[in-house]
Amino acid sequence: MSQVRVRFAPSPTGFFHIGSARTALFNWLYARHTGGVLVLRIEDTDKERNSEQFLNVIYESLDWLGLNWDEGPKAGGNFGPYRQSERSAVYREYLEKLKAAGRTYEKDGAVWFKLIGERTEVFDERRQKTVTKVKVEPTVINDLIRGRVERVEDEDFIIVRSDGNPVFHFVNVVDDIAMQITHVIRGEDHLSNTSKHVELFKAFGAPLPQFAHIPLILKQNGPGKMSKRDQGALIEEYQRRGYLPAALVNFLCLLGWNPGDDREKMPIEEIIRLFDLPGINQSNARFDDKKLAHMNMVYLLGLPADRFVERARTYFQLHAADAPALQAEAAYFREVMLLSQPKIKGLEELPAYTQYLFTEDYGTDPKMKEKVMARGDPKARLGELIAGLAALDFSSDSAIEESIKALAARHGLGFGDYQSVARLAVSGTNVGPSLTSLFRVLGKERVRQRLERLLAAV
Ligand code: GLU
Repeated sequence: MSQVRVRFAPSPTGFFHIGSARTALFNWLYARHTGGVLVLRIEDTDKERNSEQFLNVIYESLDWLGLNWDEGPKAGGNFGPYRQSERSAVYREYLEKLKAAGRTYEKDGAVWFKLIGERTEVFDERRQKTVTKVKVEPTVINDLIRGRVERVEDEDFIIVRSDGNPVFHFVNVVDDIAMQITHVIRGEDHLSNTSKHVELFKAFGAPLPQFAHIPLILKQNGPGKMSKRDQGALIEEYQRRGYLPAALVNFLCLLGWNPGDDREKMPIEEIIRLFDLPGINQSNARFDDKKLAHMNMVYLLGLPADRFVERARTYFQLHAADAPALQAEAAYFREVMLLSQPKIKGLEELPAYTQYLFTEDYGTDPKMKEKVMARGDPKARLGELIAGLAALDFSSDSAIEESIKALAARHGLGFGDYQSVARLAVSGTNVGPSLTSLFRVLGKERVRQRLERLLAAV
């Protein structure tokens, strides 16, 4: 069989959203799975709605997701140019072919595509006008995902508007022919256009590509398709929030596809090996931001220490450039980040989660304070801890725990009697790493200062 050639054909009319990313991803996966070629084609004929800024968003988002293309803008190739706005000559040439074949006519300044069959004039109630119906055989689409789909395309349609601009259906099909596309993988919202496209392919005498229409992504809550305006729809938002692109890619793969079992985290090489078009579900997939956050957390947890620390630092530089964390010594920063790695769901939690570890000017949760101060004799416990601090063994979490237990035992108490008040003193909050980890990372001197400060304040 000849080499697979697929294309991702975005229109740069808005920000790059989850649905586009998934279409790009499925094309990319199919190209990589089959050893084929991925073409990036920019469908920018709608001059008013397109902008260079949106074009850059497409390039940057694809780069960030790691979805490289083999032909297209920046990559080159033998079938360029790859921006429709630069392909007018190609469209003129193909329009001539249709004209020569007697498949076009002009009406009201526009060029129409002519269907073949018996013609009758009927009054269309809904549109309140007389239209010409053409008696045709239904168009059959053997979709690799949807199966057999029949549509009746029984009216001629415009291919070049009266302002001279060719219509989407026309340029889309011309480019798929000219670029020798073998598989059209795109969102199900285009299934209704496909009968027009098939008629055009036939009129050009071109072989039909295989079609694969991917089910929609439903919005998280409520009915309907996820749109650009929905929370969590834009790729750049995840980029900004420090999500790991590999986690997002893994999540997107599972929106409509599965490896045949219930595995979730999978290396991309494995996904490429298993991915195939008939494996894509027919039913719509529902977006789930918790699942995505979870996937991101699983990837964060799996990062080697050095890479996690590096990503954390980048996140601070981009989003919390004046945080004291960036003034801290590298070794201390690293300790704090590694302590947080297993506890957070995303990098965006880091600045708040670690705040009190980098400054003495941290707040205290008033509810926690009230609760801790109302139980037992917290002042006495603070005093005992301070007095015994010099003798505590700070060499490891378990050594700290054992030596606090020993100290507690001398007063006829347990570890728990010291835990809350010590945590209040060193962090001001009851969410965070374990007390023993906090002690170890902060070190004896900082722990002493914080215990003394609280004792002085109560
Ligand atoms: N430019 C179209 C879109 O953005 C692509 C259509 C196609 O993939 O055939 O939806």
